[in-house]
Amino acid sequence: MSAPVAFVSSSDEKTAVEWVRILSDAMPEERVCSFSSMSTSEKEQAEVAIAANPNPQDIAAMPNLKWIHSVWAGVERLVTELGEKAPPIVRLVNPELTRTMAEAVLAWVYYLQRDMPLYHKSQAEKRWRPLPYRPPSSLCVGILGLGVLGKAAAAALLHAGFRVAGWSRSKKTLEGTETYSGAEGLDTILHKSDIVVLLLPLTNDTRRLVSKARFAVMKKGAAFINFARGPIIETGAMLDALETGHLSHAVLDVFSIEPLPDSCPCWLNPNVTVLPHISATTTPENAAETVAKNLAVWRKRGKLPQTIDMQRGY
Ligand code: NAP
Repeated sequence: MSAPVAFVSSSDEKTAVEWVRILSDAMPEERVCSFSSMSTSEKEQAEVAIAANPNPQDIAAMPNLKWIHSVWAGVERLVTELGEKAPPIVRLVNPELTRTMAEAVLAWVYYLQRDMPLYHKSQAEKRWRPLPYRPPSSLCVGILGLGVLGKAAAAALLHAGFRVAGWSRSKKTLEGTETYSGAEGLDTILHKSDIVVLLLPLTNDTRRLVSKARFAVMKKGAAFINFARGPIIETGAMLDALETGHLSHAVLDVFSIEPLPDSCPCWLNPNVTVLPHISATTTPENAAETVAKNLAVWRKRGKLPQTIDMQRGY
């Protein structure tokens, strides 16, 4: 019998069974098994693991793994928990996930451009208060992170008529977009953007990157969107910047602790929009389709899609 493909997850048994069913449907030629159902010899034979928040000891129990396919786009947990000795890790890059994120960025940029937070306040006060219209071309949207998601978001914003700037580790050339890199480039983009969109991975270099000093560099009255990961920003510094009016509004989809605890001041802050990590969610069906394609190419040609650089952390 062929070596099983292990589905490794810390989710409950029912969820794991559902994932295995969907993955098996997407790749009928493979034998996908939940890690908990595998015998010791099957664990020894397994060459591929599909991972959804796996327990690191489960991965370690499969000594012959050639690679791991994450079913999430963000892999910070795998990087920190598995360490540099881990087999190569492929993260989820899925066209529907990318489209959904670009749509979310556009939707929430429109929310800010059309002053919806202010109209919401006016309504609560029964105030009829028209505000001047700001066309997209009058606003610069700065995207931190020009990877798969950042580039798609930039394209959607450009198409809608916004001015777009982007920041990444290595300098990029993107049509219609002003691009920056490095610490100086970060200050420049923060200073010029009316709306800052965070789409960076969480790594050692990006943890607490958007600090008190970085919020201070932002344009007075700028708005901020975090669709990446909570620990990339200093939440206390962001709340201070909102309190003084230096920042006008923040749309937060991700937090250091999720679900967001009742005690978090973000919940009741009228200048914060709290979203429950929904800007671009992975569905098992979408993930299974991508995993199946990548696995088929590897079986046929021995070729893996781009893998995570464990040193960089993404
Ligand atoms: P990606 O393709 O790996 O792109 C990451 C981008 O960030 C790249 O442009 C990279 O620069 C840049 N970057 C990384 N470290 C940097 C640093 N220290 N300084 C400057 N730039 C840096 O990732 P992606 O697919 O676009 O996803 C980005 C993140 O979105 C994921 O890691 C995940 O955490 C988050 N996400 C959130 C949701 C949600 O529902 N909220 C859904 C999916 C993903 P280079 O181009 O130079 O490498």
